[in-house]
Formats: sequence, structure tokens, C-alpha cells
Amino acid sequence: MNVAVIGGGTMGSMIAWRLAERGVFATVFEQFSPGHDRSAAGGESRVFRMAYAEGAGYTPILRRARELWRELEHITRRKLLHEVGMLTITPRDSAVLDTLDEGIMAHDLDCEILDGREIRRRFPQHRVATSDVAVLDHLGGYLRPELAVATAAHRAEMLGATVRRYARVEAVEHRGSDIVVVEDGHAHRFDAAVVAPGPWLARMLPQFAGVVRAERRIGAWFVPRSPELWFGRDCPVFARTSPGVSFYGMASVDGVSVKLGVTSAREPALPDPDLLDRTVSPEVLAPYREVISEHLPDLHPDPIRVGAYQECFTDDHHALLGPVSDRGNLLVAGGFSGHGFKMAPAVGDVVADLLTSGAPSLDVSALRTGRFRP
Ligand SMILES: Cc1cc2nc3c(=O)[nH]c(=O)nc-3n(C[C@H](O)[C@H](O)[C@H](O)COP(=O)(O)OP(=O)(O)OC[C@H]3O[C@@H](n4cnc5c(N)ncnc54)[C@H](O)[C@@H]3O)c2cc1C
Repeated sequence: MNVAVIGGGTMGSMIAWRLAERGVFATVFEQFSPGHDRSAAGGESRVFRMAYAEGAGYTPILRRARELWRELEHITRRKLLHEVGMLTITPRDSAVLDTLDEGIMAHDLDCEILDGREIRRRFPQHRVATSDVAVLDHLGGYLRPELAVATAAHRAEMLGATVRRYARVEAVEHRGSDIVVVEDGHAHRFDAAVVAPGPWLARMLPQFAGVVRAERRIGAWFVPRSPELWFGRDCPVFARTSPGVSFYGMASVDGVSVKLGVTSAREPALPDPDLLDRTVSPEVLAPYREVISEHLPDLHPDPIRVGAYQECFTDDHHALLGPVSDRGNLLVAGGFSGHGFKMAPAVGDVVADLLTSGAPSLDVSALRTGRFRP
């Protein structure tokens, strides 16, 4: 079988790797090159966590993803997943805590629950109220996104996949029972195709334009006053929800700075992902200063680095994964809504299952494309 993968970013590179592992011939079309930072996967680090605030149903997908991250590391001798733990801090009465609890119980996850006093003792970099609680997920940590995407693409190539770099797809459509991919005016014929263009999804598959949108997301890096607090297991990746604000941050990856993302600071949808503005104004950074002054006083409030990226969001913040229509040979993997990186190799596996056996080995029915149809 000949399969086109449109987009060689996070999902496309993993899909190509998982297809190639099964002996399926994959051709990836990527408008830049795998591992670039102009889309959803830039900025040095991505959170991995097993206890999942977006729903306990994700845990089997994350378990499989963890196995595959380890497999990719083992085969390629690259360190991709750093298991430093994940600390989620919330008020005691939050809905987030209820969902995490449900997942921990249902899937017997290796997690500890800490009260405010214990958080202060073990993780003094966080300013917390005595009434706050934290879930410490021991299998959490961070991934290295650019390296992971490039590594999966290289592995796919070693197994026989073709990666067409700087190859922008103009259209993908059925022609008879085949799929035709148009790139630079040339039509290429395939038995099947997977569309994984990240923020460009609405352009590539306009039937989803009403339910997906591209949004800009910022990352900013800050220098700590006490660097020893911000490394390795002493600084699990953290996420915090408190009234009016939610943010996350990472243990120092470069030995110099700590990365923060304020998820409650949303921006309007991007009219055109080609025109992503990568300039970050001081006004956009105001919520970061507030977070530091309220919750992370050890950090100097002026960033030494900022980055602007973009992601495809759906209306319900869950992805679209599976056949686009009743004809099973055109699939979509998109709309990962700010939390898809960690599960990418499992997404690759699901797509490979769908194309080779027709049925996925993981339950991804919650992500079916038809859920938005009237
Ligand atoms: C700032 C930020 C922080 C995030 N933090 C986390 C996190 O901590 N943990 C986590 O799990 N997730 C996180 N996410 C989400 C995660 O990174 C995304 O869900 C994931 O990377 C999406 O992968 P994708 O393959 O859909 O998109 P991408 O990785 O953007 O890949 C799409 C690719 O398609 C290519 N493409 C598009 N159109 C065409 C075309 N016409 N022809 C050829 N190529 C094309 C693009 O160039 C791109 O390379 C974050 C996202 C952002 C933006």
C-alpha cells in the first residue's frame, strides 16, 4: 500500500514511522522540514503526563505513547522523554482535581496527593495557599519536541519512507477509489492519505473549517534567583489552575532558564497560519509577570527569550482522528488543541492500525470526526 502523509510535523512524522515499521510505503509531504519551529512543535519542551485533566479516557493512549517514546529512544539512542514528574497544583475544591482523582483510581496511576504544607516543603519554588493541593504524577515529565519530530522522520526514512521536504501540498482529493495529492502543480496518486497539517487543517480540509481554528501560543523563558530549585526531580514539570489563571512550566532544560506558558491568556483565532506574527509585545507578557509575582517569586520577571507558535484547536478541545468520510482511505489527524504532543506516537499507531487492519487497537472513538456533524 502507498500512503501519502500530508504534514511532516508532530503527527505526520510519527505516522510515517509507525507505517514504515509495518512495511507500508509512506510518502511525507512537509512544507518546511521535520523539526522546524514555525508550527505547533517548537519551543524546546512539551509536557508529558499520565494523570490527565482532559479525561481519564486518555490514559490508555498515553500508556501506549510512553511505550513508543521509549522504543524510539532505544532504537535511535536519543533522549526524548525526561521523567522528572509532573506537579498539578489546584484549589482543593476544583473540578480538575476530581478528574485527576478519577483517572488515578481507574488506572491505578503512580501518583501522590500533597497538601499545601507538603508542597511548600518539597517544592519551595511554588507559592501556595495552605488550602491548595497538588497531584504529583511520577510518570510525568517533559519531551524534546524538535528532536523527537526529526528523529521519528529520520527513523521512518531508514525504514523506507520518503520525506519530501519544502514540498507544500495544494490539494488532496479522491479520484475514483484513489487519492490524488497535488504538490507544486504535480498530481501524485496514492492508495490512501492521512492529512496532518496542524494549524493549516481548515485550509487543507475545508469541511472542518467551522469547527477548527488556528491560534497563536506563546512560550517565555525566565532566569531563576535560586537555580538549584529548578532542576531535575527537584522541579517536576508543573501546571497550576487557580481562580482566573492557568499556567504551566518546565524544569530548566538548558541549565539557564525556566519556561512558562500562561494558558488562560488566549488570543483571537489566526486568520491565516501563513502569516503567524512571531513578535511578542510587552503587553502580551503582562500575564506572565502577574503569574511570577503571585505564584513563582523566585523567577526574575523579565524573560530572556520568547517564542510564538501556533496550534489547531477544535470546538471541544479534543482532536479529530480517523476517516474523513465513509470512504476509509482518507484520514485526518488534527485539532490536538494544545495537548497532542505527548500522545503523538500512539496517534501514529492508531493511524497505522486503521490503514492496515481497519480497526484501531486503542479506543479513540471520542475523537471520531463525525461528532461535529449536525
Ligand atoms: C506553545 C505550545 C505549547 C504546547 N505544549 C504542549 C505540551 O506541553 N504537551 C503536549 O502534549 N502538547 C502541547 N502542545 C500541543 C502539541 O504541540 C500539538 O498538539 C502538536 O504538536 C500538534 O501536532 P500536529 O502534527 O497536529 O501539528 P504540527 O506539529 O504543527 O505539524 C503540522 C505540519 O504540517 C505541515 N503542513 C501544513 N500544511 C501543509 C501543506 N499544505 N503541505 C505540506 N506540509 C504542510 C506544517 O508545516 C507542520 O510541519 C503545545 C502546543 C503549543 C503551540
